[in-house]
Amino acid sequence: MTSVIERLRGDTPVFSVEFFPPRDEADEAVLWRAVRELEQLDPAYMSITYGAGGSSRDGTIRSIARVATETTLVPMAHLTAVNHSVAELRNVIGWYAAVGVRNILALRGDPPGDPYGEWIPHPQGLNYAEELVELVRSLGDFCVGVSAFPYGHPRSPDLDTDTRYLVRKFKAGADFGIAQLFFEADDFLRLRDRVAAAGCDKLLIPGIMPLTTPRTLHKTIELSGVDAPRTLLDRLEPLSADAKAFRAEGLDAVTELCERLLAEGVPALHFYTFNRSKATRELVGRLGLVPARA
Ligand code: FAD
Repeated sequence: MTSVIERLRGDTPVFSVEFFPPRDEADEAVLWRAVRELEQLDPAYMSITYGAGGSSRDGTIRSIARVATETTLVPMAHLTAVNHSVAELRNVIGWYAAVGVRNILALRGDPPGDPYGEWIPHPQGLNYAEELVELVRSLGDFCVGVSAFPYGHPRSPDLDTDTRYLVRKFKAGADFGIAQLFFEADDFLRLRDRVAAAGCDKLLIPGIMPLTTPRTLHKTIELSGVDAPRTLLDRLEPLSADAKAFRAEGLDAVTELCERLLAEGVPALHFYTFNRSKATRELVGRLGLVPARA
């Protein structure tokens, strides 16, 4: 089974795609349409997020198992330490391995309900992603990714502390990092510089949101943890009531961001798909990331 890191080490930049687990049958059909459409473009890997509990977690395990067994895609499963004992985490990692998933994005996660609320670890669980990286590594031959934050994680007191803990995750065994959403290429490049200055040469991949609607813009503001730059707002906000014009301008803005990142030598772009394929297909086509055989 090919690992994510192998696919990131090619001669040319690649792209990857992120999905969330389906909630019902209708969702599942939507997800699978997008998976099949994107599979034809040969993304480096595809990932499925891990929810706060119950059926959503089952949905991640079920969907990633199906990807591993029924598609040509390289699957990566997200996993968080939220509300899990170490024994439960071992079980989930075991299920992943049993269905052929050898790539795991190891995350601490947020308190369910209120992401900014107090973090209370499970009494028999883990406190930080670093410990989950160690656990996954100790259980077999996995390729492990971690999250990184261009503006610093919201709970980090400053960027130096944030960088120190990120580098610890790499030292614990992570192979690569995926950056949280950001607005300007320089925001990502500064994160890359901080990590390099700390003596760490692990690969960092930018997370990219196709800005197709005002909702995706607001989601990017929420997840990045910062306000959008005035120049971007001036470009997009006047188009809020015109869906077609907003989408066209939003995708132009994202194309420009991606072009700059590629010019700066990023190995890959990681697209948030929201379980749809159209905008990602359009962007990778414009950026020339589609392999000749696709
Ligand atoms: P950590 O790396 O553990 O960091 C959490 C905080 O603790 C940071 O402030 C960090 O600086 C600090 N810290 C880290 N190590 C130490 C230490 N040893 N001592 C003291 N402080 C420390 N969430 C989900 O629920 N499901 C998902 O599928 C999911 N996917 C994601 C994918 C990506 C690409 C990204 C960027 C985020 C994703 N998240 C997901 C969100 C993520 O779980 C949250 O942002 C969470 O708050 C932080 O997780 P982490 O793995 O970065 O935590």
